[in-house]
Amino acid sequence: MERINCDIIIVGAGMVGLSIANQLIEKNVTRNIVILEKENDVGLHSSGRNSGVLHAGIYYKPESLRAKICVEGAQRLKNWVVERDLELNNCGKIIVPQREDLDQQLDVLFHRGKSNGALIELIDENQLKSFIPQARTATGRALWSPNTCVVKPISIIHALKQELLDKGVVIIFNQHEWVVNNRISEIKLSNNDIISYGHLINCAGLHADKVAHKFEVGLNYMLLPFKGSYWQIKKECTIKPKCNLYPVPDLNIPFLGVHFTPSADSAPTITIGPTATPALGRENYKGTNLVEPLMLIKNLALLSKLYVTNQSGFRRYVHEQAFLNFSPLLIRSAQELIPSITLNDIQPSKKVGIRSQLFNQNTNCLEDDFICLEGFKSTHILNAISPAFTASFALADLILRQSNLIP
Ligand SMILES: Cc1cc2nc3c(=O)[nH]c(=O)nc-3n(C[C@H](O)[C@H](O)[C@H](O)COP(=O)(O)OP(=O)(O)OC[C@H]3O[C@@H](n4cnc5c(N)ncnc54)[C@H](O)[C@@H]3O)c2cc1C
Repeated sequence: MERINCDIIIVGAGMVGLSIANQLIEKNVTRNIVILEKENDVGLHSSGRNSGVLHAGIYYKPESLRAKICVEGAQRLKNWVVERDLELNNCGKIIVPQREDLDQQLDVLFHRGKSNGALIELIDENQLKSFIPQARTATGRALWSPNTCVVKPISIIHALKQELLDKGVVIIFNQHEWVVNNRISEIKLSNNDIISYGHLINCAGLHADKVAHKFEVGLNYMLLPFKGSYWQIKKECTIKPKCNLYPVPDLNIPFLGVHFTPSADSAPTITIGPTATPALGRENYKGTNLVEPLMLIKNLALLSKLYVTNQSGFRRYVHEQAFLNFSPLLIRSAQELIPSITLNDIQPSKKVGIRSQLFNQNTNCLEDDFICLEGFKSTHILNAISPAFTASFALADLILRQSNLIP
């Protein structure tokens, strides 16, 4: 049995956990950091399975944490990517109203973007067509975000892992059976090794609620996983949007709607998605693999309640987004943005991710901002939803400041 002493232990080697380790070193707090990861490598969950869009900070309510850190975080991650010569597609993004009644929402987004510090501009139909000739706007207007770009999340997370290892951070893989003794700040690993820590930071993504509950923190929160499946435009298809094309989202729910995204490859693949369908398990990426029946029953009951009470306009989500896994429905949604695209032009993509969306049992609402809770010698990041990848370095600073680990 080995005994390890560390200043900080981080649970979860996703982008948030690795960024926190990075910032602890950047800010000269400590290099004596251990990261516990349940998988045998990094990037096997959200951080390696997302759309790779570095968001520009348009959607978020100005007083929210997401609004406060997105613009700065995106710029910092973009600089980091450029300095390391990793894949980057500086393609920008257009948001179009897909129905006439959504035109006002464009103004809401424009003002939110402006107050969040995003570079954003209203454009007309001719300008839209000059970017994507086949695109449609229902109202003759659209929003152009020149700063939105696309990266390759898996390249970033592997590069960051390597840098941290080179700086002496210890990452212990294959650790999902660890036990905590919160009172004496010790963790016992599956091989009986003991790690004693000064402070623990829970960045366990899809499992962050369960980890927090081990510390008696956030007991009113539970996670609702939503699966994001993607399709892609076939190589031979002549429709090739050069920039991101998004619909105006329903701002009451935390999903942005099915969109077109060119990848950061030299010959970009264009994905359509992700959908947002209730997942059968936290890691149910494929078929019936890793279905969690108990969680599913509990979640379906909750979702039905949200539907009946129409909390946060949830009924609209169910009607417009919950069943987009069926390609005839997905293509109808895609056609609202590009009317000429057909089922023959697309094929399923292997890419699939699951969002760790948090539900607050006290308020009966889905949380729409990052939630960072403090426990005894521990901090828990419970709702690291989008744009947590984009903003990861800035989010790490925010978490460390809140935990009094940096001034
Ligand atoms: C389909 C989809 C599309 C998205 N698109 C974008 C986008 O375009 N731009 C953007 O900014 N964001 C996007 N996001 C959100 C973004 O991916 C997440 O906000 C971000 O990756 C969260 O990082 P994380 O480190 O918290 O989680 P994760 O990457 O899930 O990492 C958590 C880690 O914790 C480990 N872990 C879990 N439990 C334990 C345990 N008990 N012990 C040890 N380790 C454990 C897991 O194995 C995992 O490696 C998207 C997400 C999805 C699902």
